[in-house]
Amino acid sequence: MSRIYLSPPDVGEAERAALDAAMRSGWVAPVGPDLDAFESEVASVTARSYGVGLSSGTAALHLGLREVGVGPGDDVVISTFTFAATANAVTYCGATPVLVDSEASTWNLSPELLAEELVERAGRGRLPAAVLVVDLYGQCADYGRLLPLCEEYGLPVIEDAAEALGASYGGRPAGSFGAAAVLSFNGNKIITTSGGGMLVTDEEHLAERTRHLATQARDPGPHYEHTEVGYNYRLSNLLAALGRAQLAGLAQKVERRRALNRRYREALGDLAGVGFQPTGPTQEPNCWLTCITIDPQEARTTPEAVRLALEAQDIEARPTWKPMHLQPVYAEAPRRVDGTSERLFTTGLCLPSGSSLSDVDQDRVIDVVRASLAG
Ligand SMILES: *Cc1c(COP(=O)(O)O)cnc(C)c1O
Repeated sequence: MSRIYLSPPDVGEAERAALDAAMRSGWVAPVGPDLDAFESEVASVTARSYGVGLSSGTAALHLGLREVGVGPGDDVVISTFTFAATANAVTYCGATPVLVDSEASTWNLSPELLAEELVERAGRGRLPAAVLVVDLYGQCADYGRLLPLCEEYGLPVIEDAAEALGASYGGRPAGSFGAAAVLSFNGNKIITTSGGGMLVTDEEHLAERTRHLATQARDPGPHYEHTEVGYNYRLSNLLAALGRAQLAGLAQKVERRRALNRRYREALGDLAGVGFQPTGPTQEPNCWLTCITIDPQEARTTPEAVRLALEAQDIEARPTWKPMHLQPVYAEAPRRVDGTSERLFTTGLCLPSGSSLSDVDQDRVIDVVRASLAG
């Protein structure tokens, strides 16, 4: 039996053919027709006017934050329950991430805690420069409450939709919220270019500025002229060709991950002490990862014991993200936390959820989890 991975790339003949065609076209360069097409196709899936293909989701976060005006000395509110890239992008700008906790009902940034933070900061004249909201594990945050709040204080919002391509909230696609949104095409995400990302936005100026900064901020003209410091952050045309083949299969990949999520809920939902990420009424998550929570008292075992039982059968599972306020690197960062993400971290376990996972292999996972929880 072969190892079962958490979320491996799901690629096949279509991707091979697309890469081959791009090679033969001669566009082995950081720009080209596949990149242009991939940008407009992703913009269309996210209901945006513009897309800018970049070397990673992290690069997209960095430039997005810069372009909404985040600079040295600023504060940026982010969800503490996220992958380190969210916080690191704030740090790249010379700004400080302000770590705000999740609500239990979505696992995403809590509108209540954000409101408390903004009231308090308005009182002392120290509003953040932006709010960076994460759509965790493929479920959008509660934008119906978060966006009006940020608007009230005049704060730009960036949506970190790195995990959420193909999800929707209130009938609107992930990636369509805020001044700009960020997608990731890393190897473990719902579609992949092996590595890559994109910034999507409706503001032409923001898209153009991002493209400029990502191409070494080179000014027009025959010689090399630079009036500001740029970055080498563009996605290559070859990888965009791979991305286009992946995007063509997005609907099936989302459908498969949702089916795996339903099967996990059916197979494990009756076990004492086991819970799942709740789905809000107008949410349609892409089910990027199915994560369970295991209450050690009720289940009489720990997520780590279950993870080790899976590992013994050559199955990869991972703890949920360790919140940023618990990370040594952000020990000094300001925070407003109420224990929610800490509880989700100590009880959480992400189960294999890749779109190439077969029913037979998922049953292997389910059997091990059931056996270690029934014991
Ligand atoms: C993966 C991820 C990123 C970073 O994307 P890369 O393409 O790996 O740089 C950022 N935020 C979140 C929430 C992610 O899961």
